[in-house]
Amino acid sequence: LATLGVMGGGQLGRMFVHAAQQLGFRTAVLEPDATSPAGLVAHAHVVSDYLDAAGLDRLADEADAITTEFENVPAQALRQLALRRPVAPAGDVVAVCQDRAAEKAHFAASGVPCARNHLIETEADLAAVDAALLPGILKTARLGYDGKGQRRVSDRAELAAAWRELQGVPCLLEQMLPLAQELSVIVARSATGELVHLPVQQNLHRDGILAVTVVPAPDIDAATQAEAVAAAGRIAHELAYVGVLCIEFFVLADGRLVANEMAPRPHNSGHHSVDSCDISQFELQVRTLAGLPLAEPRLHSSAVMLNLLGDLWFDAAAGADAAERTPDWRPILALPGAHLHLYGKQSARRGRKMGHLTFTAASPQAARDVALQAAALLGIEPF
Ligand code: ATP
Ligand code: MG
Ligand code: MG
Repeated sequence: LATLGVMGGGQLGRMFVHAAQQLGFRTAVLEPDATSPAGLVAHAHVVSDYLDAAGLDRLADEADAITTEFENVPAQALRQLALRRPVAPAGDVVAVCQDRAAEKAHFAASGVPCARNHLIETEADLAAVDAALLPGILKTARLGYDGKGQRRVSDRAELAAAWRELQGVPCLLEQMLPLAQELSVIVARSATGELVHLPVQQNLHRDGILAVTVVPAPDIDAATQAEAVAAAGRIAHELAYVGVLCIEFFVLADGRLVANEMAPRPHNSGHHSVDSCDISQFELQVRTLAGLPLAEPRLHSSAVMLNLLGDLWFDAAAGADAAERTPDWRPILALPGAHLHLYGKQSARRGRKMGHLTFTAASPQAARDVALQAAALLGIEPF
């Protein structure tokens, strides 16, 4: 194989390209914007026509094998590409990940518990909701991310109003669960069924967006971690998954583990692996795509990852019409074990993922201490 192709040119595509180039591959990015994070990477070839038949054909002309960084790539586009080239993950599998109802059904079929839920497509479905599902969270079945397309509802009246607010699109109502912790497990599975995983990640979300990831997970006991890794493996095997797959889990107040959702690609919570593990999630993506051997990644450093959202590019005191500015990275880079990753996005917006910082250290406490210093310097809420 000479050239690896990726659908989408965001930060996940950029980091895939970094890993592919390190292993000597050329890369092709299907993305209309040459100044996108992946498009900006030197020698990434940008195929400009996006997702139409001509664009897909050009990608298949250029690339010997194709993956995606973009969760909502039309599954049909992946199926079409697969007629010409190896594609991983497969369109049918990505389609399961794109639909919360199919995703939850797959968790159940894999013997992994998830929140009780009810699919709402019609007014009659609304009326049939079991009272035990309230209070709950109404989520659009498709296309939601970073907590977008979600409404918290406490009773039937709020549920009906929220569904109308979401334009009556198919939604899943999930029972509101008492969360003690959030974690994620990233697995990579090869075409021959080999399976490896990254260490269990403990995640903190703020306003529906991942804010902080810590490895090793400080507050999740060994038995629960082992259960999460086993569950993630079953979910991947049952899908005959090829590529990198992330499963998000909750630990409930009573200690039970439930699956939340999955992403058919490397995940924000795995970005630490570039700096903390001997094989990163992006290298795993390259290896699975290129049919190279997998090896179990080893965590060589404790790590804390802080997401850098666009809010940091605006002076908090200056209000809504604040001018964009670049944070001062010098005091951050002076801290031990700082790994600054900026995605090269052309402009900042509040809530937009602009980059991340990973702090690596010889002990969990040291990684946490220095990450807290960085958070204080940048004006990120402590954790
Ligand atoms: P992502 O950007 O991770 O794809 P998303 O928009 O798909 O996010 P979810 O992961 O489903 O959204 O939910 C976002 C957050 O909302 C979760 O990380 C969790 O903090 C909270 N949450 C989601 N579902 C539930 C639930 N059933 N009970 C309690 N909290 C929940
Ligand atoms: Mg999601
Ligand atoms: Mg999520």
